[in-house]
Amino acid sequence: MSDVNSDEGDIMYGLKTVLAQIEGAVARRSKDLPQVATKLVAVSKIKPVSLIIQAYEAGQRHFGENYVNELAEKAHNPQIIEKWSPGLYIVETVDSERLADNLNKQWVKIRKSDEKLNIMVQVNTSAEEAKNGVEPSQATNLVEYVIKKCTDLNFKGLMTIGQYDYDTSLGPNPDFLSLVKCRQEVSEKLNLDINDVELSMGMSTDFEHAIELGATTVRVGSKIFGARPPKN
Ligand SMILES: *Cc1c(COP(=O)(O)O)cnc(C)c1O
Repeated sequence: MSDVNSDEGDIMYGLKTVLAQIEGAVARRSKDLPQVATKLVAVSKIKPVSLIIQAYEAGQRHFGENYVNELAEKAHNPQIIEKWSPGLYIVETVDSERLADNLNKQWVKIRKSDEKLNIMVQVNTSAEEAKNGVEPSQATNLVEYVIKKCTDLNFKGLMTIGQYDYDTSLGPNPDFLSLVKCRQEVSEKLNLDINDVELSMGMSTDFEHAIELGATTVRVGSKIFGARPPKN
């Protein structure tokens, strides 16, 4: 049939494949780690709204955006407004008080009800200049700031990107181990239940490894939506 949209089939297939891999990795996760359900966040950056709607229709419910302007744009899209519900979106890239304040302010303008915006604090676990994120030692301060000062943001957890192409034959990815340790520290210092602080780590190429090390959220883009054009 000529009117079958091939992208749609691909998105459904991509989602199913990723969900099956998540399930497999959860079963392999160390029993010492909190056995919480693992959430798939579909990272839809740069992708058109039509693909997001397709993913939604295939059952996907959590979407991540990196940039406030993209979030604002999508929040105003009539197709998305129709399906908008609290918690549909999460911004995982908060790495400064300034950005947190800014998001808090923007959110009040674009939201549809008095729901809070879910956010995560991004931690630069690999100490790479080119990466965003607070240093692990600063994470507690920023989380405390968000909880106390940003009344329209809802702190959900910690996120790291980590090194690309880490070779897992060398052992567990040190970035993921570092984020696990960071959560321990943040939870203890701020008296938070560790099971309520999510760990977002792992992307298309390494989400299974991240889950085995304790990820509670994985962010997958290209494996669902297809490859993005290279930067620049
Ligand atoms: C783009 C992006 C992802 C998804 O990357 P893929 O490799 O396409 O799965 C995850 N997290 C962040 C922060 C991103 O910017």
